Amino acid sequence: MKIAIGWLYPTLMSTYGDRGNVICIQRRCQWRDIEVEVIPLKKETTPEVFEGVDIIVGGGAQDRQQEIVMRDLQGAKAEALKNKLDRGTPGVFTCGSPQLLGHYYEPALGKRIDGLGLLDMVSKHPGIDARRCIGNLVFEITANPIASELAAMVGEKPIAIGFENHGGRTYLNDVQPLGKVIRGYGNNGEDQTAGAFYQNAIATYSHGPLLPKNPFIADWLIVKALQNKYERAIELKAIDDSIAIAARKAMLQRLDLFNVL
Ligand code: GLN
Repeated sequence: MKIAIGWLYPTLMSTYGDRGNVICIQRRCQWRDIEVEVIPLKKETTPEVFEGVDIIVGGGAQDRQQEIVMRDLQGAKAEALKNKLDRGTPGVFTCGSPQLLGHYYEPALGKRIDGLGLLDMVSKHPGIDARRCIGNLVFEITANPIASELAAMVGEKPIAIGFENHGGRTYLNDVQPLGKVIRGYGNNGEDQTAGAFYQNAIATYSHGPLLPKNPFIADWLIVKALQNKYERAIELKAIDDSIAIAARKAMLQRLDLFNVL
């Protein structure tokens, strides 16, 4: 089997180690003899290339880089990306990239930038003097059906652990939150929502990077990608995740959240 990972604007959008998400998917496939191709989706990429990818990964960006990306990602490329996600291509979008999947992002300085409008949400930066949302982020994944699918995979509540660093605040309208904040700010520091979930697309403020800290989410994305591509049930070979699991437990203990699992 083979999958292609489409990586959105690798040089403009990869703050706080978000390329770790790409590496994590790649390695977890290779350890199971699933071939992987990583395809950068960038300025020079034609919309047809979007068609050929099986998973889409988008990382964070500072406001300036994000603005460049959001301007480039209009028209045919935006349509191609929207079509893919609408049709259930799995994806993971962190921090700056979910902001561009919503209706708009208002940066700290400068004008509102239009987003793709795929997720019914808006993001606003309250200004350069406002406090940034920085720190460890822990949330329970509650969106359906991903929450029950992950719970079946891990045999316990799906708790995501990560790190957030954003100025923008996201407000959801008619889109499911990915989860509920246990520790941290989440989407806006007000309503305890964490991220958003649409079809098979995960939007989150959680760097971490998210997938190495929560490898079960990486496997969920891989299963979705392979099921879509090969149109049959997929069972992945188990991987020894004892180090990741120990790291998760240590992290929760440090945050006095040992009982959340
Ligand atoms: N520029 C966005 C914000 O500050 C995203 C930051 C990021 O991706 N880390 O909200």
